[in-house]
Amino acid sequence: MFKPTIGLEVHVQLKTKSKMFCSCPVEFKAEPNSLVCPVCLGLPGSLPVLNRQAVEFTIAVALALHCQIQPFSQFHRKNYFYPDLPKGYQISQYDLPFSTDGYLLIETEEGEKKIGIQRVHMEEDTAKMIHGVSISRTSGYSLIDFNRSGVPLLEIVSRPDISTPQEATSYLSELRSILRTLGVSTANMEEGALRCDVNISLAGGTRTEIKNLNSFHSVRKALEYEIKRQEEILRGGGEVVQETRHYDERTGVTIPMRTKEEAEDYRYFPEPDLVPLKIEQTWIEEVKKRMPELPEEKRRRYRELGLFPAEAATLANNPELADFFDDCLSLGAPGKEVANLLLSEVLKFLNSRNLAITEVPLYPKNLVELVKILGKGEISSKIGKVVLEEMLQSGESPGEIIHKKGLSQISDSDQIRKWVEEVLRENPEQVNQYRQGKEQVFGFFVGKVMKLSGGRANPEILNNILKELLKKQ
Ligand SMILES: [Zn+2]
Repeated sequence: MFKPTIGLEVHVQLKTKSKMFCSCPVEFKAEPNSLVCPVCLGLPGSLPVLNRQAVEFTIAVALALHCQIQPFSQFHRKNYFYPDLPKGYQISQYDLPFSTDGYLLIETEEGEKKIGIQRVHMEEDTAKMIHGVSISRTSGYSLIDFNRSGVPLLEIVSRPDISTPQEATSYLSELRSILRTLGVSTANMEEGALRCDVNISLAGGTRTEIKNLNSFHSVRKALEYEIKRQEEILRGGGEVVQETRHYDERTGVTIPMRTKEEAEDYRYFPEPDLVPLKIEQTWIEEVKKRMPELPEEKRRRYRELGLFPAEAATLANNPELADFFDDCLSLGAPGKEVANLLLSEVLKFLNSRNLAITEVPLYPKNLVELVKILGKGEISSKIGKVVLEEMLQSGESPGEIIHKKGLSQISDSDQIRKWVEEVLRENPEQVNQYRQGKEQVFGFFVGKVMKLSGGRANPEILNNILKELLKKQ
């Protein structure tokens, strides 16, 4: 068995109003090349000015990831030539990054696991290349959209603490949840707002890197493939070549892009047009005060209410559902019971229709009322499901629905006795079986009576009457 060691490098686009070093707006649906200026086009003589909001967002992310914000950090030029990089270099951070040495917590089957964060630093995005083929299909072409050039990016580098593809996607999911909770990024992988490179090695082998994975699915599949590929090489006595590989989503395999010998030398040097960064402690404190409750803290609070770790995680990682849950709690509802309904019936209803809880007319007040009605035994849990489904569609209160549809539980023992008598009369064979000791048929009678009552018979009274009448000869 070769134990995998996995590290993730994630790039996150920040949701600031303007770009990292100029005042062009950050917007992704605008006409190509309409949001540009001399700075983000890399024209000679233009000077970058650092975006204060981007720094503030980075402080929040660094704090949320338990990182040390460095008292002194610096921007560097990372030099390389590519058509999407008009300056011929990217402004990034190098040996003096913004923040270092943090961690985030993921849920695994063995409990919580700490994944170390090596660094979180700031840089700028490149322009976007669009590759196409001419109408005659005889020649290809490439277009460049500079709207993306200079959009603020965070680079978040994990330590190689991840051991399975599942842990890798858990890490990404937790990171995405943190970024969304902070409101600093849409963190949407499909739109490229969160991009992931992975590096992986097996015990006794060399590591490879897989670049530009753009979905959770790709991350998992690429890692699974790469683990198998490296395992086969090592088993056969071969050596894994240190290289960068590309994951092909269509075929599900990774293919070599470049080896270590071809690795680029970026000739980093300090960016002379930007002063080094010194972050005042008072600014950090201010940001800390304004930070919302993070998923990690939420999970802990929910677990204290008696929720299972997996339940707490599902709620905490779904901010809209968590807000709804918190509203129910503030109305004095018992957490466990509310969570049970939210995570079973409500989530099933939402998922099957691809809706968020904010898109259905379900209100915390009504759900809390339903929990109370169920708690008092006024309706059975089966009827509760019917009522809840109606609540999700009509927005009515459970009281209204129960009244309107005549769904309240029947505890009238005379009525229940009549039903039981009818069922026993109509099924003499089963009655005989029961009396000869085949007690399993008891459930059969309960089902029949429940059906007659439209699911409304009080189960306790029903059981008592049924036992009593079955005993009689
Ligand atoms: Zn600009």
